[in-house]
Amino acid sequence: MSETESTNYHDVIIVGSGPAGYTAGVYLGRSEYNPFMLTGALTPGGQLVNTTTVENFPGFPDGVLGPDLMDKMRDQAEKFGTILEYDDVVSTDLSGDIKTVTTDGGETYSAKAVILTTGSEYRKLGIPGEEKFGGHGVSYCATCDGFFFKDKKIVVVGGGDSAMEEATFLSRYGSSVTLIHRREEFRASKILVDRVKANPKINLMLNSVVTEIKGDDKNGVTSLALKNTVDGTESTLDADGVFIAIGYTPRTDFLKGQVGLDPDGYILTEGASTKTSLPGVFAAGDVTDRTYRQAISAAGMGCRAAIDAQNYLTEHED
Ligand code: NAP
Repeated sequence: MSETESTNYHDVIIVGSGPAGYTAGVYLGRSEYNPFMLTGALTPGGQLVNTTTVENFPGFPDGVLGPDLMDKMRDQAEKFGTILEYDDVVSTDLSGDIKTVTTDGGETYSAKAVILTTGSEYRKLGIPGEEKFGGHGVSYCATCDGFFFKDKKIVVVGGGDSAMEEATFLSRYGSSVTLIHRREEFRASKILVDRVKANPKINLMLNSVVTEIKGDDKNGVTSLALKNTVDGTESTLDADGVFIAIGYTPRTDFLKGQVGLDPDGYILTEGASTKTSLPGVFAAGDVTDRTYRQAISAAGMGCRAAIDAQNYLTEHED
């Protein structure tokens, strides 16, 4: 049996299942290209599965819950024939005409074209105590863990949209929420900053960084060591929980040495296309986008990747 007759062979493999991946699935499925998606095992649907209301995705004037939006995208991709496998890709060989990807579950799948939409993961502060108290007071997801901090002293670190959303969400639970940001200005959108500033439960601590997360085995996190970024003064802040919301890093470890990456690990694409450094390999969404990083821009890019892949397959028909 030739490789292309194997049950593990597909026209296109989509790696990752956020808005970019599902949109690519919808387009390729409707074009009868037999798309096969490896969703990732831990969070099928990607980051939006861990958010609350999404207010800026067109078509939902009253907002839509992140998990509901991703369920709808998945259903739409499946309706048009995308086959889903809930597994992680651990290694790839993408250089030949037939590309292969191998999963954590030990399966190897092959295809003529591959679309990479693996998104990104939480950026870490990299300070003492962060790893030790992970799951014991240190969290990267307010919607996942906020409930455990009812009437507790909560800290949120970051100055972007995520930090604003997390602080607002956590103010429902905490006795207080302190938002710590390393600068005076926020990069978050004005509407979210205004919401935080108007919230009586949220205190702002600007020009400050957390240098250490302290605690003990019994209580988990108990306090934070802080440093003022302007005058260098050091202080301590009592805290029961710290939510770190300082952005994301692309998920490309499994691709090193395969496709071209920039120094921060984002997949490089050619001009306005989704073409990577390898023919037949395309990238879309947060894994290649350090600028826009929105659900709608990822979905749009997933559409473009599907069309780029279709054109590639048409040009390379046997
Ligand atoms: P982000 O926009 O990259 O912001 C990261 C924040 O963390 C920045 O304020 C940055 O400070 C700070 N930071 C980074 N590294 C740090 C460190 N080592 N120590 C202390 N502070 C650090 O990340 P994000 O807020 O997660 O947002 C990511 C993308 O998703 C953005 O495009 C955002 O618009 C989008 N998003 C949108 C929504 C929405 O529209 N509702 C919600 C969430 C996210 P500096 O500002 O000083 O660099």
